[in-house]
Amino acid sequence: MNRENEWENLKAEISSCSKCPLHKSRTKPVPGEGNLYSTVLFLGEAPGKTEDEEGRPFVGAAGKLLTKLIEEIGLRRENVFITNVVKCRPPNNREPKYEEIKACSYFTDRIISLVSPQLIVTLGNYAGYYVFELKGGAKWLGISRMRGKLYRLTVVGSPRAVIATYHPAAALYNPQLYNALREDFELSRKLLASEKAGDRGLMRYVK
Ligand code: URA
Repeated sequence: MNRENEWENLKAEISSCSKCPLHKSRTKPVPGEGNLYSTVLFLGEAPGKTEDEEGRPFVGAAGKLLTKLIEEIGLRRENVFITNVVKCRPPNNREPKYEEIKACSYFTDRIISLVSPQLIVTLGNYAGYYVFELKGGAKWLGISRMRGKLYRLTVVGSPRAVIATYHPAAALYNPQLYNALREDFELSRKLLASEKAGDRGLMRYVK
């Protein structure tokens, strides 16, 4: 089966999923979106109100900031892949629970495996915890200690570069965090630029 068909199947499974209680209160599931062949995958926390209404990740205020950060490093949003550790909105925008993240990992891991990114950028504590501690066999010490560095971890069966940064929502009204986010995106840009451009080279998705 090709990636496009697999993705259609995966989206259908997410739509009919009842592995955790979040499916009961959500409007639309938010499986993720982007280029299935992207070399970089951005992993966020959970859909918010606008995402829940539209069925698309990062389309609210935090999403606008994420899109800006992506464009600032010379990428286009449609050429990267964006998803979250949970695919349904937690009621009243509460934080996702461990059991919900674990239940949704069935899909998160299949998405990582399908897109097979060389670089994963984790946005916020939940995504960082997920990739480092639950998947990468590394201790998650919180964003302020983990950010600003490049890690190489085996995540869902393959070695991948991982960069942890703040969640864009946290940076909306905090210039210090915004600067840190920009630095971490710049680190991602440098990594992507330094990789050799082959047929599926990382530079392929640079503007
Ligand atoms: N915050 C997230 O973590 N994910 C979204 O999709 C939107 C906001």
